[in-house]
Amino acid sequence: MTIARNRVVTIDYTLTDEGGAVLDTSQGEEPLAYIHGTGTLVPGLETALEGKAASEHVSVTVSPDQGYGARDESVIFTISRGEFEDVDDLSVGMKLELHGEHEEPLLVTVITMDQEEVTVDANHPLAGQTLHFEVDVRGVREATAEELAHGHAHDGHHGH
Ligand code: ZN
Repeated sequence: MTIARNRVVTIDYTLTDEGGAVLDTSQGEEPLAYIHGTGTLVPGLETALEGKAASEHVSVTVSPDQGYGARDESVIFTISRGEFEDVDDLSVGMKLELHGEHEEPLLVTVITMDQEEVTVDANHPLAGQTLHFEVDVRGVREATAEELAHGHAHDGHHGH
């Protein structure tokens, strides 16, 4: 069976940046199981995996537009320190979930702060980066109706 939309794919992967530094890996953990075509992986990686089968190895370099997008300087905000009263140990580098204009969750990283103001960046931490993936396909199977309804695979720790 080959990788196609709505099939559950299990992979081992290592993600490195342009300089070869490891950003994320499944090594030492369980392989990642996901439903293909649902946007779990970045578009460039999904495209590279399309049509592959178990035991195949995929090596792919993904540009920002096929990865986490370009960095957007307009999503860097400065907010009054008072808005963070309920956050313990607020510090630079901390990731927080704020609420956007329409109450949508907005994941941000604190980039600078002083007594009065806090500047946060809502870009994905990997936005603007060229990513390199080394992937070993471990398995491909049809998703169950329940998995499709939930939008995620039920293998590994995500089973319930
Ligand atoms: Zn579920």
